[in-house]
Amino acid sequence: MPVLLILGLIAFFVLSWLWHRSRTLTRDCRWREDRSRAPEGRSFFRCASCGAETDLPRGKQPKHCLRQQ
Ligand SMILES: [Zn+2]
Repeated sequence: MPVLLILGLIAFFVLSWLWHRSRTLTRDCRWREDRSRAPEGRSFFRCASCGAETDLPRGKQPKHCLRQQ
C-alpha cells in the first residue's frame, strides 16, 4: 500500500484547492476609492465585494482582500 503516494495526492488536492480559493477571493475583491472619506494626504478605499475598508498613502492601491486576513 503506497501510503506516501496517497498522502501526497491528498496534500496536492488540498493545496490546489486553497490556491484556487485564494485566487478567486483576490479576484472578487473590488476596491473602490472614496475621496470624500479620505484622511489628509491619504486615499480611502472600500471593498465593494466584502465591505472591508482601509486607507493607504496617496497613489497606492490595496491589492488583497482584507477579509482573508
Ligand atoms: Zn474584499
